[in-house]
Amino acid sequence: MSVRAKKHLGQHFLTDENIAKKIADSLTENGYDDVLEIGPGMGVLTKYLLQKKSKVTVMEIDRDSVAYLKETFPLEHISLDTSSEKFTILEGDFLKKQISEIFNKKQVAIIGNFPYNISSQIVFKAIENREFVPEFSGMFQKEVAMRIAEKEGSKVYGIISVLTQAFFDVEYLFTVPPSVFNPPPKVDSGVIRFIRKENYTLPVDEKLFFSVVKTAFNQRRKMLRSSLKSFKLSDSLKEEPIFAKRPEQLSVNQFIELTSKIANNGI
Ligand code: SAH
Repeated sequence: MSVRAKKHLGQHFLTDENIAKKIADSLTENGYDDVLEIGPGMGVLTKYLLQKKSKVTVMEIDRDSVAYLKETFPLEHISLDTSSEKFTILEGDFLKKQISEIFNKKQVAIIGNFPYNISSQIVFKAIENREFVPEFSGMFQKEVAMRIAEKEGSKVYGIISVLTQAFFDVEYLFTVPPSVFNPPPKVDSGVIRFIRKENYTLPVDEKLFFSVVKTAFNQRRKMLRSSLKSFKLSDSLKEEPIFAKRPEQLSVNQFIELTSKIANNGI
């Protein structure tokens, strides 16, 4: 028995065992006991994760895949309580679950060969929950993986790059061709890893920082003094050289500096 791939769930099953092992091995296992795999499908990554010391929880939205996993992994003890079991299978939509509740506020690494239609939302959710997520790695559409890892000066540097890199060190690990999936996707895939920075709090108001980054990139071709008008910049502030730049020219630290200037608004 195997699971028939469903397009609307972004199902492309990885068929190459070496790549599956390489993705599982991308986790460093530092600073946590729990690993959460999102979208295990038929468990190609899961079996390599189970060989590691960590406790593994998988969350899968597809009932057929959950049934397959329950049948195939004799080890498993299904439970909503992740405190004691080595392997836990949860059925559900990752975007609707509270990470802190499932893991009782413990540290948990997130991994997956992610459904591409929701991969950015998965990253934003990891960023929101960074207090509990020391490490995150997985497979994305290559273009998205590169965008997340890209530095200032690049055309694809954007909101997700700045917000991820503000809290995590991001590393692009390797590219995976369509031919190793069933069914093959139309595009290349890329595997990246984020490791949370030692200091993952910002020296500025985080809400304001998020809002400045998003607003600036919403009009990425304009100078900041124009795209950030809604922040009611004082005249003297608008004259500062940083406001003559475009968002893709600013490093993460310069976005922090910019936020601090806006918070003080010329004072
Ligand atoms: N990890 C497997 C499957 C990858 S395909 C492999 O590498 O072969 C992506 C998987 O994510 C599918 O199994 C799909 O059912 C699951 N999925 C899609 N949306 C999801 C969601 N919102 N929450 C949890 N799992 C989801």
